[in-house]
Amino acid sequence: MSYSYRARMPRAGLSDELPGSRSSMQDLLRSDEFCRSLLEAARWPAGPVCTNCGATGEASKLATRPGLWTCRACRRCQFSVTSGTPLHRTRLPVAHWVRLFHLIEVAGTPLTISQVSRRFDVAHLTAENMLKRISELKEKMPGMTTRLKGLLSELPRGPRLYGQSTPDQNIT
Ligand SMILES: [Zn+2]
Repeated sequence: MSYSYRARMPRAGLSDELPGSRSSMQDLLRSDEFCRSLLEAARWPAGPVCTNCGATGEASKLATRPGLWTCRACRRCQFSVTSGTPLHRTRLPVAHWVRLFHLIEVAGTPLTISQVSRRFDVAHLTAENMLKRISELKEKMPGMTTRLKGLLSELPRGPRLYGQSTPDQNIT
């Protein structure tokens, strides 16, 4: 049937393959897959945007590599939700970033480098780098971080499937 193909088309945003909706927020924030969906919904509210040609909604997920997208419009590039952001090329699980962001921005927990190092079981230098990159993300991508904060704030009341964009009302 023709509609089943469309229905299977990958898209950015929270997929319906979430862990059970009764999972606690902490469980959700330990899932790389869930955290990646959150980041994708926050960065690309209208669908994935190709980092090479700028086409929106033309990318499809690569089946072989979780988190990688390939663009049908230019057929030239592969990218992920962290491409071109301060979170790129860090070798840390995506869930680390979302959890740290949640702790600082949503839970309002002030964290020292040593506390980040202990909590995430990473070296002191890595912890320092993590804090630095989170503030760079806020500075360079205010729309994405505002939407991410909005999505995370809603989690205790049940994760919202398909993240429509949260207007950037706080951005001037
Ligand atoms: Zn492209």
